[in-house]
This record gives sequence, structure tokens and C-alpha cells, in this order.
Amino acid sequence: MISGAEPSVKLSRGFLRVSVKEKVESAVIKQLLDCWYAEKALQHFSVSFERCWSAFEKQGLPRPNLKVRTMKTRWGSLSSKGNLALNLALIRAPRECIDYVMTHELCHLVHSNHELGFY
Ligand SMILES: [Zn+2]
Repeated sequence: MISGAEPSVKLSRGFLRVSVKEKVESAVIKQLLDCWYAEKALQHFSVSFERCWSAFEKQGLPRPNLKVRTMKTRWGSLSSKGNLALNLALIRAPRECIDYVMTHELCHLVHSNHELGFY
């Protein structure tokens, strides 16, 4: 933790550097780190989305809104309102696994359940 700067989080040479204006509670540091982590996850998931979306876009399907959420029991979800959410923890998985979950959720644009047609 470094004092005297605008609140920020930076990854440098394998270390996370958290800067704050003054001494703060550890909960504030955790909140800064959680925000940074979610931001980075959204960046990576957006790249995955673009890789996977092209095959679905050609079918004229509605483009979902990508979200990052903390989930306890699922890797992802697609709501009827068109929100495609991926579990924040998925950021620790290899790219292929992120694309797999992304594709799975995008398939729900066509088949809402896991019926035979879904697979
Ligand atoms: Zn599913």
C-alpha cells in the first residue's frame, strides 16, 4: 500500500500496487482490489465474447449485454432480458474454458433449456 496518491490499483512485475490518499481500512483496499479484478475480468470476457459472438451474430440473434458477477454455483447465466453474466472466478480459467462457458450461454439465445436441441 502506498499513501499520497489517487486511489488506484496497478499490476507491476507480478505485484499488485494499491495507492490511496491516506491510511484506510482494509475493507477499502479489498473494495479497490475487487473493482480492479472485475474490471480486468470484463476486459478479458469482452475479448472472449467477440471471439464467440460472430457465429451467433450471423443468425440475427439479439446481442446480449455482458456482465461480470460473483456466483456461488454457476459459471455463467443468460437472463430473459438479454444479460449474459459470467462468474468472476472464471477469470482464473484458461481462455478455452472462458470461451466454452461463453458459447454455452450464447447457445441459450436459441434454446433456453438444456434439451437435446441445445447440445
Ligand atoms: Zn446452460
